[in-house]
Amino acid sequence: MKVSLEQDKCVGAGQCVLIAPDVFDQRDEDGIAILLQENPPAELQEGARQSAWACPGLAIAVDES
Ligand code: SF4
Repeated sequence: MKVSLEQDKCVGAGQCVLIAPDVFDQRDEDGIAILLQENPPAELQEGARQSAWACPGLAIAVDES
């Protein structure tokens, strides 16, 4: 799995950090998300998928190939 994050689409809502705190973090200054794991291990992949579904800015993409 490859996760990508478009920071210019992020609205700082924080759902991804709540769902998958080992995959995403937020910048302290403005809440914009930071991708911690571009290739998350198996145990974190479901959280990455759920974050992509939940993101209100459609900023997260998950490539399953
Ligand atoms: S869920 Fe989406 S909009 Fe919210 S902080 Fe994460 S990437 Fe940004």
